[in-house]
Amino acid sequence: MSGTHAPSAGGTAAALAEALGELMWPTRCVGCGEPGALLCPACEARLPWVSQLWACPTCGAPFGWLVCTACDASWDLRVVCALSYEGAARRMVTLLKDAHELRLAPYLAAAIAVALDETQTDLDAIDGICFVPATAEAFARRGFDHMELVARSLSRATGIPVADALARLPAADQRALGREGRQKNLAGSVVVYADVAGARLLLVDDVVTTGASMRACASALLARGASGVMGAAAARVW
Ligand SMILES: [Zn+2]
Ligand SMILES: [Zn+2]
Repeated sequence: MSGTHAPSAGGTAAALAEALGELMWPTRCVGCGEPGALLCPACEARLPWVSQLWACPTCGAPFGWLVCTACDASWDLRVVCALSYEGAARRMVTLLKDAHELRLAPYLAAAIAVALDETQTDLDAIDGICFVPATAEAFARRGFDHMELVARSLSRATGIPVADALARLPAADQRALGREGRQKNLAGSVVVYADVAGARLLLVDDVVTTGASMRACASALLARGASGVMGAAAARVW
């Protein structure tokens, strides 16, 4: 008998650690807290999907198709949003970001993929997936960039490569600034460090509120010669 099917010592240890972890900290549903799955079928069925038929074609706000109160003429980026930022959708984002539940990254990527599909976005016309990078402070605190994980997961699902092109310099504290001040402050803090000339890019983020960070990233990419940028977010505050 050859030993090729025997699990490696490392594999066994990892499987054991996972089984032990599951015993001590069972996987609980992000929606209802029931042990078992990360998102139970009942909570999955109740996810607050944005109906793309009625969503604002510019900012992705639900029900903004005819008249949108969430954006104006200054909103210069098309953004598609998958879910309304509430309930299980909200907890998926916060648990991924702040509770280190990295297994949620593919869920957010899948939500974005659904929204792209529903809006009949031509994936063949996208050369790369960029992500709104975490601030230096958030990266240092969390030890990972959750949107990079989501972008990589979306890349695996769609076959579109990740264009890891953006970084954020430490910006002055946003909280004291008004909306316009924030936009300027953000724009100055975004750096494009890869060659994006001529590229058609999909820019992904977790949550869109005012769209300030997404638009700052998009204008930085366009200023560096990207031929087009469209945004897609897992969730929309509205
Ligand atoms: Zn549940
Ligand atoms: Zn809008």
